[in-house]
Amino acid sequence: MAKIQVLVDGKRVSVMSGSTILDAVKKAGSEVPTLCHNPILEPSGHCRICLVEDLTSNKLLTACNTRAEEGMVINTQTERVHSARKKILRMLLLNHPEACVVCEKNNSCTLKELASNYGISLVSTGKVGNLHPIVDANPFIHRDLTKCIGCQMCVRVCREVQGACAIGFSGFGTSARPATLGDMASSDCELCGLCVSICPVGALIEKPSKHHGTPERKSKVVCPYCGVGCQMFVMVKSGRIIGVEAGVPGSVNARSLCVKGRYGFGFVSHPERLKKPLIKEDGEFREATWEEAIDRVVSGLRQAKRLGPQAIGVLSSAKATNEENYLIQKFARVVLGTNNIDHCARLCHAPSVTGLAQSFGSGAMTNSYDDIKRARVILITGTNTSENHPVIAQMIKTAVLSGKTKLIVVDPRDIKLARFAEIFLQPRPGTDVAWLNGFARVIITEGLMDEKFIRERTESFDEFSRSVMPYTPEVVQKICGIPPQELKRAARLYAKSGASAIFYAMGITQHTSGTDNVKAIANLAMLTGNIGRPGTGVNPLRGQNNVQGACDMGALPVSLPGYKRVDEKEARVKFEKAWGATIPEEPGLTVVEMMKAAESGKIRAMYIVGENPVVTDPDSEHVKSALKKLDFLVVQDIFLTETAELADVVLPGAAAFEKTGTYTNTERRVQLSMKAVDPPGEAKSDMDIISELAGALNGDMKYESPSEVMEEISLLVPSYGGISYSRLEKSGIQWPCPNTGHPGTKILHEKEFTRGKGKFHAVEFADPAELPDKRYPFVLTTGRILFHYHSGSMSRRSVLAKHISGGWVEINPQDARRIGIKDGSKVKVVSRRGKVSTKARISSRSPRGVVFMSFHFAEEAVNALVNPALDKESKIPEFKVCAVRIEPEVQIE
Ligand code: SF4
Repeated sequence: MAKIQVLVDGKRVSVMSGSTILDAVKKAGSEVPTLCHNPILEPSGHCRICLVEDLTSNKLLTACNTRAEEGMVINTQTERVHSARKKILRMLLLNHPEACVVCEKNNSCTLKELASNYGISLVSTGKVGNLHPIVDANPFIHRDLTKCIGCQMCVRVCREVQGACAIGFSGFGTSARPATLGDMASSDCELCGLCVSICPVGALIEKPSKHHGTPERKSKVVCPYCGVGCQMFVMVKSGRIIGVEAGVPGSVNARSLCVKGRYGFGFVSHPERLKKPLIKEDGEFREATWEEAIDRVVSGLRQAKRLGPQAIGVLSSAKATNEENYLIQKFARVVLGTNNIDHCARLCHAPSVTGLAQSFGSGAMTNSYDDIKRARVILITGTNTSENHPVIAQMIKTAVLSGKTKLIVVDPRDIKLARFAEIFLQPRPGTDVAWLNGFARVIITEGLMDEKFIRERTESFDEFSRSVMPYTPEVVQKICGIPPQELKRAARLYAKSGASAIFYAMGITQHTSGTDNVKAIANLAMLTGNIGRPGTGVNPLRGQNNVQGACDMGALPVSLPGYKRVDEKEARVKFEKAWGATIPEEPGLTVVEMMKAAESGKIRAMYIVGENPVVTDPDSEHVKSALKKLDFLVVQDIFLTETAELADVVLPGAAAFEKTGTYTNTERRVQLSMKAVDPPGEAKSDMDIISELAGALNGDMKYESPSEVMEEISLLVPSYGGISYSRLEKSGIQWPCPNTGHPGTKILHEKEFTRGKGKFHAVEFADPAELPDKRYPFVLTTGRILFHYHSGSMSRRSVLAKHISGGWVEINPQDARRIGIKDGSKVKVVSRRGKVSTKARISSRSPRGVVFMSFHFAEEAVNALVNPALDKESKIPEFKVCAVRIEPEVQIE
């Protein structure tokens, strides 16, 4: 592209043709004030405060949205320019309240700063002409639109960056103000707070941060909720977190956060935080000293160990740091002598780990978030991305809105992203292998596959090709309910784009066919050569903020850190040498198997760190009764969870912002999170507790700091070989990163697959383990909602609970009419395993015959209903399909 020359304040600069005057001004090192400008938005010139003088045309021009032209002579600081800017500021201030002393914007108000810089007294500007009522519609955002200066940044950021288009402008002239359809809670607003964060004045304010004044310091942390791994600053005052700010330089989420990340931090200082160890005596907890508690844990674990180390089970945590997960699995294997170590990845992405390892040799997301905007087609399936991974949904929406990317959504429910889709297919729950094989058949029979890629990079194509031939569009329609023409259209769109990416989540994995579903997805990517290149890939979206890291660190019964199998001698010997201990050869039990073993008396003691299986595991009544049968249960957590209530000893742990450590997000990015505040009372980090416990059990697991643990990890786990705290201080690194000079890996399998050649798998459709019948006529499917997280132990102890405090069963309007229930009616949802009382929410998001419930509410424990039937290979339970009936609790007159 050609360059042009511009003279700015007497300095000659050259900028790319197409640059704005503001770009040239910045290049010259001059300064121009802005109010409505932000580099993440298209320039608009609304506020006009960026006026500069162009001597070639003798005009005043807005610098942010006027193109620089060859030979322009720009002055940014002349008397004429200053006087014009002053006039604009006076006009803005005419309608702005003189309330700076009590304004929550404190000293970060750009208008106030400019007024001061230009020598304008607020008092001299007169009275406010247009008073607007303060809007108090939700617990997150306070709107005092009298202070609005009409810069429209909130409207633009909602449309251009968030892709939500929830805000518009209403009214005329100086009375015009941003407005939503209805209040922010009921409109398309996702309450992400991006509009608040960009407001240059105090018109939009975050309620949770109100009345806390100016923060004293801030710490860079990783969001404690989902696997997107957004980075943010937590603002600290008097040892308390008073707010959150996005915009960490180089972060994957830039300025974006979802409602949980931005507002859900209140759990950290919640009064119910555990502050002292608890010991149960005569069925009641009493507070204890750490010495007493550790003694009690040591004797409980020792007693069980007398029956053999296999009598003990350990659950690690996808919320704990990499260093903590590494230590917990090391504690299980070295100190307790068992491979009975697992965590909640078993319940979300075990099929991804198992299936993708067989297809590609690695079970992680193949590409990066950056590739979303490079994909020409994105196929999302089994992921309600807007509610589960909201910041990724935002990236997908902006890619689609750019006009360069087309979206295919395949989901039984009419999820939000379906509105942005070119093609939306609604298969029956549990029929994924059929439509995926149907896609493959269309692609093969129409000659749309990538023959060169198949020939050079893959194996077992012929067998796979034969296996999909029975899945004609008509057969697929019978199984899935997808119209044949739509199936063909979607398959062609995916195959022909040149760069198609697949994103999926638990709607694919949480089935008895979970591993087959994942293999069928991998087949599709290899068939079309959509792997190993920018904008392509197979991308499982991981749930918890460190579920990827917990797997990487070997908190799995079969895998040592770095996914080396524990039953392979060479791998074991390497770790035995490093740890100076013998590691048992026999793979351990998975979480579901541990619960069964507890029930049958084979497991006699369990150590559960940061997990709440009573709420999160399938058939929760069984889980409860299994845990009650244990001789000894120790739970380490930040709250007295439903699982902790059953424990003999409860150890108080530190929450996310109270410790330093690393987390690995769903795009394999290892990120450092710094300690921001001290844990409450006597609570300690999981790392400190584990070290202490190991010492008391004659193990040696003393480390000076988490960074020392990372040093050990980098020596033993090749993909973390080049990762160190000093490198992570600058920015996150995506594994594999084999050495300290390696920049990290954005795209996996570029030249060859981790396993050498990619392997096609012939997979056959099989019905879910439980189908609806006369007694149980509905399919229940479960998932998350935007405003809560997992078992709710954190999100329900924050302001998020003020917005949504309980669950519901979502049912199609026709089904609701047929069984005589209204929106809000009390109902019982009954399966073969249990019943749950809740209220009905009538919505066509669920198709006929399918009902949906979230799993965040212990008092409406949906997991009491779901089927614990397991996928044979990965042992994940079938959370996504079980048969239920709906019984009205109150008859409608
Ligand atoms: Fe946190 Fe996930 Fe929301 Fe990002 S998208 S702010 S990581 S919950």
